Amino acid sequence: MRSRIGVLLLAVSVSAASSAGEWIADTQAIMGTRVHVEVYHDDAALARSAIAAVMADMRRIDASMSPYIEASELSVMNREAATHAVTVSPELFGLLQRSLEFSVVTDGAFDVTFASAGRYYDYRASIAPDAATLEATLPAIDHRHLELIEPNLVRYHHPAVYVDLGGIAKGYAVDRGIAILQAHGIVEGIVEAGGDSRIIGDRHGRPWNVGVKDPRKDGAMAVLLPLANTAVSTSGDYERYFEKDGVRYHHIIDPDTGDSARAVRSVTILGPEATMTDALSTSVFVLGVEKGIELIDEHFPGVDAIVIDGDGRMHYSANLEPLR
Ligand code: AMP
Ligand code: MG
Repeated sequence: MRSRIGVLLLAVSVSAASSAGEWIADTQAIMGTRVHVEVYHDDAALARSAIAAVMADMRRIDASMSPYIEASELSVMNREAATHAVTVSPELFGLLQRSLEFSVVTDGAFDVTFASAGRYYDYRASIAPDAATLEATLPAIDHRHLELIEPNLVRYHHPAVYVDLGGIAKGYAVDRGIAILQAHGIVEGIVEAGGDSRIIGDRHGRPWNVGVKDPRKDGAMAVLLPLANTAVSTSGDYERYFEKDGVRYHHIIDPDTGDSARAVRSVTILGPEATMTDALSTSVFVLGVEKGIELIDEHFPGVDAIVIDGDGRMHYSANLEPLR
């Protein structure tokens, strides 16, 4: 398979629109973002209850994994795991394991302990941590401080470690959403949570056109991707940021410095599942054009990357050669 885009272009003309079904959609604000679910099914009532189940599951994940909810499992872990091993749910344990796998393969570019320093940025209030705060918290950014003890214990080995799953949890929630749709017998649909989406089937014989935003032109698209049967995630420096003295401070943090990663402006990843595309879009953003594309080409067959660099130029992974 060359790429999901190429495959799709062949597939588009094959299936013809027929049958009495309809598209049913809902959009809600969950996990601090826009969640959109749209499905096709003959039975509209079934479609609606499937969508409601997806939304409910997203709220459940938020309640367990949000660092902004004091009572969330994640918040309890952040308060206690530096003093004693904390028991967490198999679900949180599993996502922490996935996170560490991405830390290893990205050589630390993806690191959920980024928030040890990252938590001191306030993008709405235009606040970055001062030099003393950075100096005190930077040593706590290291995925190796995070010990996962089977079956479900977590221990932090530095007092300032703070975990935030913002780089992977939305993708995970999208994959769960797709599984819920499939359990309802739905074979065509999309689940989107902010910049992370996954599509099953196509748009009833046509592709879904997913836009990659122009990072510096509000409302404009850099490229439109005709997609089917894929997950797609975009990380951009325009999503949550402020500018101070001509420097852009945004929400993707280089674990080596505790500062925003500034080599590129946006990264889009296409792959089989959204947990992976979410983590990889953040990872490639931190790694930059060369190392980022090398990571995808060497370690992730079947995954594609589109990177927009600091000058607005587009770069593609090897699988996307036809687009060049
Ligand atoms: P995304 O838009 O998918 O790139 O996710 C950005 C989010 O990932 C941020 O808001 C943070 O919560 C989190 N994040 C930032 N830097 C990192 C990093 N180096 N490793 C893992 N997660 C990160
Ligand atoms: Mg991501």
